[in-house]
Amino acid sequence: MKSFPKWSAFLMVGALPLASFGFQMDPLIPGDQKKVMLDDYSYLDQLQILDEGQDIQTRALLETAKISSSQLKQWLAGRMKVVISEKTDIEKSVRIVSRAAFYQNGGLMPDIDAPVPTPTPKPTPANSASSPVRKPMVVMSNMGTGIYMYGKQNAKLLGLQTSDGKVLAIRTPRDGLVQIGEGLFHERLRVSPERVDLPANRLARLSTYFHEARHSDGNGKSLGFAHAMCPVGHAYQGYYACEKNLNGPYTVGAMVLKKLTEACADCSAKEKTTLQMIQADSLSRVLKTYRNKNGVTENAKVWNPAPEKVLYSI
Ligand SMILES: [Zn+2]
Repeated sequence: MKSFPKWSAFLMVGALPLASFGFQMDPLIPGDQKKVMLDDYSYLDQLQILDEGQDIQTRALLETAKISSSQLKQWLAGRMKVVISEKTDIEKSVRIVSRAAFYQNGGLMPDIDAPVPTPTPKPTPANSASSPVRKPMVVMSNMGTGIYMYGKQNAKLLGLQTSDGKVLAIRTPRDGLVQIGEGLFHERLRVSPERVDLPANRLARLSTYFHEARHSDGNGKSLGFAHAMCPVGHAYQGYYACEKNLNGPYTVGAMVLKKLTEACADCSAKEKTTLQMIQADSLSRVLKTYRNKNGVTENAKVWNPAPEKVLYSI
């Protein structure tokens, strides 16, 4: 397990200007993580991303006339604006900003799946000795959308108090508040374990950023493009690690990763294969057909991704 520099060391980095980097970072984020993320974002400029007219599906997905490095940066920066640390306790940091708030599509919320059984591997002496239980690591989550939904359910405007004491009101999921943890950088979750800053590792993280950024979109039933429960028989059976949208986070993460992988001159053939496996894994989580709560088979939809917002608050 990696140790991070003490407080004093990364306080020096301080708050970074928004315009030059695309997103703002809470001072609680260790300096080395901050640098990696900002360099990941800048790395988009170094990729020769080609749009030769064959990417109609990806263009439609990202609502763009042409796919380029600058367009991808703009897409991401519009949906991922503030990054906070896993050290921030969300439940303890949520504040009521206004007692009453009127939300667009009031009362209309996404359908949440009921749980299905989670297969639990039987602990045997052999596997408990060879694979000790590991604490799950935080990778990344879109907390702004969660806070927005909670505010909508309660008809109040909510915000999050960041470590500098300021309260960031969440008026739309596009306020782009995401939380990161050490899992995002951990060698166990890298494409190539050697170095965190290898191009292939940057590409995998960028794909995660685009996935999380997509959770800042959607309205009414598609609000936040929520995950769905993976069905019985799926590799991730029993986990909220699937989706019933054709233009949701898993598709965005996979399609962007495909473009980045094709453009990566500094990725080895082996790394490209691993990146393709990540794409395939993401796409396998998109349930093209699924049983609804009445047991009827339905087809996944392409939703209008326009984001919603608080209309006014008092
Ligand atoms: Zn997600």
